[in-house]
Amino acid sequence: MLQHVAIVGSGPSGLFCADALIRQNPALKIDVIDRLPTPYGLVRFGVAPDHQGTKAVTRQFDRLFTNPNIRFLGRLEVGTDLPLSVLQAHYDAVVLAVGAHQDRPLGIPGADLAGVYGSMAFVGWYNGHPDFADLNPQLSNSIAIIGQGNVAVDIARLLAKTPAELAASDLCAHAAAAIQAAGITDIYMIGRRGPIEASFTSAELAELGKLERLRPVLRKSDLPDSIPAGLDPNEAKVKERNLQLLHEYAGRTDEKPVMLHFLFHSAPLELVGNGRVEGLRVAGGTKPLTVGTVISAIGYHTAPKGDLPAAASNGRLPNSDGLIAPGLYVVGWAKRGPSGTIPTNRSEAKAVADRLLADFASDAAPAKPGSAGLDAWLKQQGIAVLDFAAWKHIEAAEIAAARPGAPREKLARWADLLAIQAQQQAQQ
Ligand code: NAP
Repeated sequence: MLQHVAIVGSGPSGLFCADALIRQNPALKIDVIDRLPTPYGLVRFGVAPDHQGTKAVTRQFDRLFTNPNIRFLGRLEVGTDLPLSVLQAHYDAVVLAVGAHQDRPLGIPGADLAGVYGSMAFVGWYNGHPDFADLNPQLSNSIAIIGQGNVAVDIARLLAKTPAELAASDLCAHAAAAIQAAGITDIYMIGRRGPIEASFTSAELAELGKLERLRPVLRKSDLPDSIPAGLDPNEAKVKERNLQLLHEYAGRTDEKPVMLHFLFHSAPLELVGNGRVEGLRVAGGTKPLTVGTVISAIGYHTAPKGDLPAAASNGRLPNSDGLIAPGLYVVGWAKRGPSGTIPTNRSEAKAVADRLLADFASDAAPAKPGSAGLDAWLKQQGIAVLDFAAWKHIEAAEIAAARPGAPREKLARWADLLAIQAQQQAQQ
């Protein structure tokens, strides 16, 4: 019978799944486990630091952890510290909400030159992910971003915003200082296909047109007059608005300190440089673009560790509508790939939660030991986890360290995060 559920990953898909499960079965006991001492995954480390409205969903997640039946176990990596097989022995059902943490490889010559970064590391650096806080990227005044999705747009916007435009963000101080010091004048956003195929959405594209010191630069001759017939109506609406915005941008002539060049039909071919990147050769270009920094924002793979199921060649965990094997489920980017907005995860995670509950509706097997069994195992192994109270200590320290007007200054380094753990243990 279903009594104990473990959810691996405390990002939006994992927590929307917990929410859907507990609403329908309030007696369930759910343990949410995360490799990091801080919850909220993509919301904390992926959503742009100047999109605080999107991050407000964490208030709902905070409320979830006030339910005594839901625990947070931070700094515990399933697959390695805690084998999945052990977790499965203790919980009736396990849901993997492990996200997609590895950059898709660029696969062109020169991709390993210094000065070339994947968006996972680069976004993690400015968003205070402890694995990337010391990335210290070399930022030149001329930067290429490969890809034309919303991650590419987020990066371009953050590279161009003024300190005043960033005042209410939680962009990490180390990143804000490095970006302002770089004296950025040119950003190239490289698409291998055309303006209609670009995957950014209209609200995000529109933001680029409103920035104080950035001007979008593109040629009218690169733009079709209208969108092709036959698109799905929702897609057509976005594409039509995108095209309208791009036409408007192509007509701009004002001088701004940062030029954002949209390059379409310009597949990246080669990165050139002597040890560090100095140029990017693209299809159709006569000579390499002069750039000293390249950020590839071309999507992500799921990269499971230890005894977690391996990802398929499409970068996802093989599953059938969220089911991997009896009692083992997957939600979010690990299930469907890196796509959609935060609310996409809500509906999808609910569908998997519904399925899980239905699968166990007539299950007569005795319930497994759940938290009590896991706690005993952790104690035996000498593993101390960080609980939700420890996260609240971290959060309080972040809020106290915020510059005026900002919501927080993230504790971005492992040493600082673990110092909180040591403090908490000393108090116990
Ligand atoms: P994405 O939307 O899939 O965009 C990836 C981009 O990389 C596409 O332009 C793609 O072009 C390009 N690309 C892929 N492989 C390439 C290659 N080998 N060479 C050159 N270009 C290549 O992914 P994303 O930007 O990483 O975003 C992930 C998801 O998060 C998306 O659903 C996005 O909308 C969402 N997100 C939303 C927001 C927001 O709502 N504000 C913010 C950030 C992210 P092709 O189309 O030609 O493959």
